[in-house]
Amino acid sequence: MHIIKDMGWIEVITGSMFSGKSEELIRRVKRARYGKKKTLVFKPEIDNRYCVNSVVSHNGDQINAINICKAEEILQYVTESIDVVAIDEAQFLDEKIVDVCTKLANMGKRVIVAGLDTDFRGMPFGSIHTLMAISEYVDKLQAICVVCGNPASRTQRLIEGKPAKANDPVILIGATESYEARCRRCHIVPK
Ligand code: ADP
Ligand code: ZN
Repeated sequence: MHIIKDMGWIEVITGSMFSGKSEELIRRVKRARYGKKKTLVFKPEIDNRYCVNSVVSHNGDQINAINICKAEEILQYVTESIDVVAIDEAQFLDEKIVDVCTKLANMGKRVIVAGLDTDFRGMPFGSIHTLMAISEYVDKLQAICVVCGNPASRTQRLIEGKPAKANDPVILIGATESYEARCRRCHIVPK
């Protein structure tokens, strides 16, 4: 990445689950802090995987974050003195996230936005594809396929240990569900 001076920009970190998006977002925020930059981290309320007020990576790293329900809430927190705005799990935010990131970058902020590029069906997720189009930088990370060991670009949804169908409900009461990183070949979405 080249150094940009006196100007904001958007950088997108995307890929499947377990590809290291949160890990990378945390790393970039920590490095910005070493560089004496003022940072703010946000995540949607919906993602309470581990800890309500933190972004937590599957590798155990974590960083404090502000929970938001709507994308536009971010603007209320970002004052003149903030240099870097980081947003994790952005696929769960409403489509206004595109305007919000644009506005912040135009205000001169460095905007780091992380999120899943595809859902468990392998289809584009939320506004991430739009953010990828309008950003200056995109890093598409890969996990490791738990079936064959190839690079994994997809997220496999399992219900009671079996691949979820494309039209299975998003919330399943009483059923155990889990997610795995898988490659294109091992990713299964039964009809
Ligand atoms: P993401 O935000 O993309 O879901 P995280 O940053 O939360 O990713 O987690 C990345 C970490 O997940 C890796 O550093 C590794 O410790 C762990 N991990 C678990 N399963 C896998 C896998 N199948 N491939 C790669 N990393 C994995
Ligand atoms: Zn595979």
